[in-house]
Amino acid sequence: MTDPRRRLPSMDALLKESGVAAWIDRYGRETVKGSLRRALDRVRAEAGSQGSDPVDLLRVAARDLEARSRPSLRRVLNGTGVVLHTNLGRAPLADEAGRAQAEAAGYGNVELSLATGRRGSRYDHCGEVVCELTGAGAAIIANNNAAAVALVVNELARGREVLVSRGELVEIGGTFRIPDVVERSGGRLREVGTTNRTSVSDYAAAIDESTGLILRVHPSNYRVEGFAARPPLAALVSLARERGIPLAHDLGSGLLDADLLPGFPEGPTARGSLAVGVDLATWSGDKLLGGPQAGIIAGDAALIGRLRRNPLLRAFRVDKTTLAALEATLMLYRDPDLAVRRVPALRMLSEPAEAVEARAAAARPDLPQRSGARVDVVRTEAMVGGGALPGFAIPSAGWAVAGMDVERLAAECRAGPVPLIGRIERAAFIVDVRTLPGEEAARAAEALASALDRLADA
Ligand SMILES: *Cc1c(COP(=O)(O)O)cnc(C)c1O
Repeated sequence: MTDPRRRLPSMDALLKESGVAAWIDRYGRETVKGSLRRALDRVRAEAGSQGSDPVDLLRVAARDLEARSRPSLRRVLNGTGVVLHTNLGRAPLADEAGRAQAEAAGYGNVELSLATGRRGSRYDHCGEVVCELTGAGAAIIANNNAAAVALVVNELARGREVLVSRGELVEIGGTFRIPDVVERSGGRLREVGTTNRTSVSDYAAAIDESTGLILRVHPSNYRVEGFAARPPLAALVSLARERGIPLAHDLGSGLLDADLLPGFPEGPTARGSLAVGVDLATWSGDKLLGGPQAGIIAGDAALIGRLRRNPLLRAFRVDKTTLAALEATLMLYRDPDLAVRRVPALRMLSEPAEAVEARAAAARPDLPQRSGARVDVVRTEAMVGGGALPGFAIPSAGWAVAGMDVERLAAECRAGPVPLIGRIERAAFIVDVRTLPGEEAARAAEALASALDRLADA
């Protein structure tokens, strides 16, 4: 009997096979050799079965190469109906922002003044358009809003007290808790009022010579209802001015203008907040603004000037491609209609439920009959996400797949070449079409059908 292993081709022979040169060009010689070696090992281990054929070997190696070069961070289809899904990267960028980001990936005048040829500042970028849109005197960008808040506290209240209402001691998720951020940034938290009610006189009573900052925090991810009150922002502004204490407002999500999303509960806006007289406003770039991850700080020019000189800013430094994407996003807001049309988060949130339902019906997947599963077009409830507008359900539509093990289906959808993420609700796998704009609905339908195919083959 001949041992099939003895007929295995050599590495040198495999490297000369047609097509391998193209692999080497794309993946590099060492990587290709590694995959070929693993393919040889595998075939050797399975000796006896067929597989000594170089074509089979190359097929095994090709799969290995592909699997090993698949990026860890991949594009997914968001069928969750959560528009700003933190686990899925929050806001998808506008095309304009994506293009600006790609353009900025090369050399750019990040810290160079093109006018003088001398050193410029990274923090000059985006400032102008933020001021134009919000009425701020100056603005700077940090790498996220958590950094923005930390920087403000560190600069204005290092070793001093930061007054925060007990009703606003927010945890955003993960490790962002206002009390911890204040302490770690060098401030001393001074809690004011109670969980449900805080008045201006509570703030006034807490102010003394050690007060460095009054911090108003938008409770973006929860609501205190019932016997609840907090002072109007204008009253806090008056108090802060009277006592000469800076007042910062952490807006959280920071929708630029309430009119952008008619029918949605109103949150604070930077323009509104600054118009009332808040000294600094901070908000996220990738929540309702619909841009890249960033923290925007806007307000009083002298205070922004101090923040620019704070050494911590270097640690919170924003990347050039982020600046480019943020500026391109902000520019869309010069015209509110343009913003709603081009900023994906706003567009998805604004789509009428009937339109979503019509898209869900049009793209309804064709499920393989042998899978035993059935699909219905159903009404769903979408959400803003990103910790914004808790409890606010947006009427939406999608597909409900039932009649099978939906946990396995969800897992198989995640395992596909373009992972589809849905949710399980009462023994059905739900795919919300609101967060699958344009051709993504059709791609999701395909992903669903092919996941069911794979399960039926398994
Ligand atoms: C989301 C949020 C933050 C943190 O913002 P990131 O951009 O995620 O760092 C801080 N404060 C509030 C009120 C928030 O809602």
